[in-house]
Order: sequence, then structure tokens, then C-alpha cells
Amino acid sequence: MHTSTPVGAPSALAPEQNTTRSARAGGEPAGDRLQGLLARLGEVRSDWQLQEVRDLFALPFADLIFHAQRVHRANFDPNEVQVSTLLSIKTGACPEDCAYCSQSVRFQTGLKAEPLMDLEQVLEKARAAKANGATRFCMGAAYRSPKPKQLKQIAQMIAGVRALGMETCATLGMLTPEQARELKDAGLDYYNHNLDTSEAFYGQIITTRTYQDRLQTLQAVREAGIKVCCGGILGMGESELDRAQLLHTLATLPQHPESVPINQLMQVPGTPLEGAPAPAALDFVRTIAVARLLMPRSHVRLSAGRSEMSDETQALCFLAGANSIFYGEKLLTTENPDEHHDRELFERLGLRPAPLAHCEPAVEPGQPSVRKPDEPGARDERSGTGGLTAG
Ligand code: SF4
Repeated sequence: MHTSTPVGAPSALAPEQNTTRSARAGGEPAGDRLQGLLARLGEVRSDWQLQEVRDLFALPFADLIFHAQRVHRANFDPNEVQVSTLLSIKTGACPEDCAYCSQSVRFQTGLKAEPLMDLEQVLEKARAAKANGATRFCMGAAYRSPKPKQLKQIAQMIAGVRALGMETCATLGMLTPEQARELKDAGLDYYNHNLDTSEAFYGQIITTRTYQDRLQTLQAVREAGIKVCCGGILGMGESELDRAQLLHTLATLPQHPESVPINQLMQVPGTPLEGAPAPAALDFVRTIAVARLLMPRSHVRLSAGRSEMSDETQALCFLAGANSIFYGEKLLTTENPDEHHDRELFERLGLRPAPLAHCEPAVEPGQPSVRKPDEPGARDERSGTGGLTAG
């Protein structure tokens, strides 16, 4: 049954209850504008207007989740979740000053720095991740940008993980176009490089590189033919406008990132962001839903911060269109829910890990093609295979 508030219908809420919603959006969306926006949901667009993003944030929660769910179901099996495992292959001593990070050499976090791991150590971890049901293995190194010798060693790791039949992902800092091509040649499928927050707020979080630097690396990665994993962090003191601007930037890239991690800040003692107020759970869910609507064919990933979330919040995130998680006890250097708990949660929610073949978007994002949720060819629910308990 269609549960959405009809456009232009009077709100059931008392005026004072509507105040927050109106103020958040910078004014109640005009009926026509909202109607036009809702009619186009499901399209893969790169021409989003910031006001449209704000209008989505301002939707009544039930409407937002309804639209996110129907767009999600049109593009993905709603009960499948792509599962990645992340390994820190080089830890700490990073020269950058990201205010949230335990690995910056500038903050006293007590983290023990570790050099680049050996090839065989990495492959051993990858085999274990595969045995636990992960289809993608992400390798993270705390660099501003990798040196040539480091890049060669990491290229060998990528080739080795690929040979295990897993998808590969790396996050190594800034890359030149040549470095991106070298990684592509080694078999790299995805490169993670987050924008973190809005351009306006970025300077309050990181001063050692610019937003433009980030965008240039994303462009180098895309041009090398590597899929892009790019998202942000909530809970750094940003406003809802910053969140809208971040998602607007991601959704107006020439091609949507195939993977969009939405993190909740994991507060690390000793970092400047220790003590920052956590985002309200419903605001986090709202951000997931808006990301789903803006980038209908991208995997929206629940990343760092899951250990701080209740099972109910995670369930709402899946309902809002999140369909990828990191699985494993550590996320680089911060805690992740334990694997047993994740298995149990998947079972309780009837979720399945997506098999490798299902991990690709049905159609490359960025295409002007339109497949609306109710259109023929929209994806139906279908049974999947496997279980998180595999292995
Ligand atoms: S987030 Fe990455 S670049 Fe920033 S300090 Fe941490 S390891 Fe370095």
C-alpha cells in the first residue's frame, strides 16, 4: 500500500512539530518542486541540485524510508548484503592530521605503529576472510601517498588476493594517475578515498590536504578504470547542511561511486574529535536513506561506528537502503561488532551475504538510463545463496 504523504497534503503534525523539519530544509519545499523530485526518484542522475538533497532530508521519516526502500528494491535484492573485510596492512605514523584518526603521528593516541606487512601475512588474512564469507578484501595503509617501493609491494598483495578469487580494494592515500594505473594493472577492483564531509567543513577536520586533492585522486582512480569507494563520516560536529553537501558532491560526480561508505565517528581518545556529540540514530538512518535515493545503483555501506549502534538502528539502516558492511573484529584500528554477533543479526533479519556475482551494480552508475522502481525490469526479490556462517 502506498503510504507516502500526498504531495501538497496538509501535514498531520501540529505546526510547532513541523518547525524542525522546515528549518532543516531551509524552508518548506514548494509542492511542485517536491512533486517533481519524487517523480524522478529511481533515476541515476548526476544533476542533483543541493535544494533537492535538502528536500529529501526534510521528508517525513516514513516517506523517506518508503521511497528509499522502493528504490532499493528496484536495484538490489533487499535481503542481500555485500560483505567486505578490511585489514590494516601498514598502521600508524601517518603524517596527515585528520582530526578523527588514531593513526596520525600528530596525536597522542597510544597506537603502536607497524610497518607494511609481508605478502604472506596479508594473504593468510585474506584466506581467513574468504572462509568467513567476505567477497571483498580491503587493504588500508596509513600513508599520505605511497612511495614507489611501497606501491610495488602492495601491487603484489593485490595480485595475490585477486588470485584467491576475491575482489580487491585498497586505501593508501593520494594517488597520481600513474600510480592508479599501476594498481589497476595489478588487479585492483576498488579504491577507497573518502571525502569525509562537505567542502565547507573540511578545513576544520583536515589541514594537510585540500578537498580538491581528494577530488583529483578520485578522478585519477576513475580514469584508471578502478571502481570508486567514497563516502564520509557523521558525528564530527557537522551540520545537516554539511551532510547534504557531502552527499550532493558524491551524487554529482561524473559517475557515482560504486560504493558509498557512511561512517559514524569512532571517537578515539587523544584525537581532537574526542568528545564530539554522536549523531542521533535517526539522523544517521536518514543520511543512509538519502544516499540510497541519490545514488540508486551504488552500494551504500554501513562502515565504522556499527559497534556503537543498536541492532535496531542497524536494521533501520538496512531498511533505508544500506547493503554493504565491513565484517571482522577490527576496522583498521577501531572496534567492529564481533563476527558472531553479525551472524546472529543477519539470521534475525533474514539477511544473506551477497555472493560475488551479485556485488556489482546491475548497470554502471552514471548512465543516464532510468529504471523506475515500478517499471518492468526493475529488480524483483529473489533468493540468494550462502550464509554468513559459511566457513
Ligand atoms: S585518515 Fe588516513 S590519511 Fe588521515 S591521518 Fe588517518 S591514516 Fe592518515
